[in-house]
Amino acid sequence: MAGLEPFSPDADYCVYCHAPAAGMCAECGALCCVDCVELVMGWTTQRAVCNPCSHGSETASGQRSKAPYWLAAMILAALGTIFLLAQ
Ligand SMILES: [Zn+2]
Ligand SMILES: [Zn+2]
Repeated sequence: MAGLEPFSPDADYCVYCHAPAAGMCAECGALCCVDCVELVMGWTTQRAVCNPCSHGSETASGQRSKAPYWLAAMILAALGTIFLLAQ
């Protein structure tokens, strides 16, 4: 009965899912595994940023905020067409 022995006693573990950590988040310095980190394009190089930090970053939110814009535009166009046809 060896029990739950860690793979390596000196290994650091991901703060989110407790898997063996691959590195530190470039934003908050949290230890993350490869599953909990995203590669974000910086000015000159890629940075490994944890999911909470990458979702809060400006690039991520900027990319995400584009979808509601064209969705709203399409809904407005559809409503306008229905309004015109109903007259
Ligand atoms: Zn993880
Ligand atoms: Zn982070």
